[in-house]
Amino acid sequence: MRPRLLVAADPTLPRQAPPGSEAVVVGAGVAGVSAATILAERGVAVTLVEAAATLGGRLGAWPHTLPDGTEQVVEHGFHAFFRHYYTWRDVLRRIDPGLGFLRPVKGYPVISRRFPPEDLGRLPAAPPLNLLALFARSSSLTVADLLGADVALGTELLTFDRARTPEVLDTMSAGDFLAGLRVSDRAREMLFEAFARSFFCDPDGLSAAELVAMFHFYFLGNPAGIGFDAPRTDHLHAIWAPLAEYLRARGATIRTGCALRSLRPDGPGWALTLDDGATRTTRHVVLALDPGGLRAVVGASPELTGVAPRLAAQTAGLTTAPPFVVSRVWLAADVDPGRAVFNAVSGEPTLDSVTVYSRLEEPSAQWARETGGCVLELHSYACTEPDAAVERMLGELAALWPETAGTAQVHRVDRVDATAPAFPPGSAGARPGVRTDARGVRVAGDFVEAPLVCGLMERAAVTGVLAAADVLAELGTQGVDVYGVPQRGLLAGLPARARHRAVGPRAAT
Ligand SMILES: Cc1cc2nc3c(=O)[nH]c(=O)nc-3n(C[C@H](O)[C@H](O)[C@H](O)COP(=O)(O)OP(=O)(O)OC[C@H]3O[C@@H](n4cnc5c(N)ncnc54)[C@H](O)[C@@H]3O)c2cc1C
Repeated sequence: MRPRLLVAADPTLPRQAPPGSEAVVVGAGVAGVSAATILAERGVAVTLVEAAATLGGRLGAWPHTLPDGTEQVVEHGFHAFFRHYYTWRDVLRRIDPGLGFLRPVKGYPVISRRFPPEDLGRLPAAPPLNLLALFARSSSLTVADLLGADVALGTELLTFDRARTPEVLDTMSAGDFLAGLRVSDRAREMLFEAFARSFFCDPDGLSAAELVAMFHFYFLGNPAGIGFDAPRTDHLHAIWAPLAEYLRARGATIRTGCALRSLRPDGPGWALTLDDGATRTTRHVVLALDPGGLRAVVGASPELTGVAPRLAAQTAGLTTAPPFVVSRVWLAADVDPGRAVFNAVSGEPTLDSVTVYSRLEEPSAQWARETGGCVLELHSYACTEPDAAVERMLGELAALWPETAGTAQVHRVDRVDATAPAFPPGSAGARPGVRTDARGVRVAGDFVEAPLVCGLMERAAVTGVLAAADVLAELGTQGVDVYGVPQRGLLAGLPARARHRAVGPRAAT
């Protein structure tokens, strides 16, 4: 199944922006760099402003010296590059047209102490075959599960519709939705909860409508399959250094270690106050910040909120997910040869995933070859007690993979952050969109309302590219084609009466 063209550029418009066009993009994560890339290619003089010392935001990476003197690059965390990330992959093709820097990651097991592993990576790519295969091959979802399941709620998974699903399910939490499905503990834990937690939220703090949308985007509506790729080497060398070079070669100025404090209207444009005291005036601004960063900037900009009450209200309502914890651990001995590269973990209070980095990327593999050890990365999402999280994750890992229990740690780098967006029940339609009521100011990022269903890095890239397209539209310049998955579920045409009977009253409570 081919990706669908969902936003089409006007081919009658010129591809290059008028001479003298310029824009400021603030935030150099996936969203900001995607926006800057499109603008720079079209002849817009781009200034990219980033608060951190390095590019990449939550996909960022930075050099780190181990106690033995080895230079390694530590990342914000393992990332799966799914094959239906059409827009993000298109941006990445600028630095590697064949995407040879990505390699397939075999398997996608969900592991647990209570139940045998479930490997989602073995499923066929295209819907509905993937669904049929899930029933046929899954050890966690059986015919017995289907007999006891709530048909109306189950149908909601197959009848996703961008307009209707939030209307029916947004006030319900993903936790209530999963409990209401009435599948076995095993199916709930191994298939649905593991999936829900990868959006950095506890199921009780996640809207059921968002869960169903993501289930559609990643699984039921995904023609490319749930298999994914990851870079052969670290994100700094694979992605951010080449993208920075690409941007500079097209005239972009990149300013790292420089935060935007506030902005205010200034004639037809905007005056941006940076934390080095400098002020920069421009008509076209793309704010590609994390949700907390955007809230802080808009909150510090009273004159902006005066002219853009909708953006002010939408931004004030943004919430950040609970902290996530990432621990990179260098161990003195390897884990069992049968361990998969990436493992989602279910049923543990703290540990949500474990990645064997020394079987994933070359710098870690080389360290492991030279020392006989291994490099692991442990993640905890929506972590309620981040201070004690790393020790707990290691304990939970030892219970799952006993060979790690007595193994000496050579080195460890831990990080706690709270920059992921939350999608709580009742929040649909309340987030800012790319275009704002502050004309000239666009917003991009993985929490921004997009005109098509997409998630995480792809949502960041889509909104970044669409923010650039909006700047180009104002400059009378051709926009960008954007592709996506089918926007409705397999059974979205089902008569409404059958669905509403059981779902309506529950959603309202
Ligand atoms: C551990 C972990 C694992 C993940 N795994 C996956 C995965 O497997 N697949 C997937 O698709 N996604 C994954 N994600 C999510 C993915 O990283 C994000 O969706 C994506 O990177 C968001 O990009 P962004 O540009 O919207 O935001 P960010 O990356 O947060 O970028 C925002 C940038 O704005 C900068 N900024 C903030 N305030 C200011 C200011 N005032 N002035 C200047 N700059 C500012 C920040 O420093 C940051 O660089 C993961 C995230 C984490 C943390």
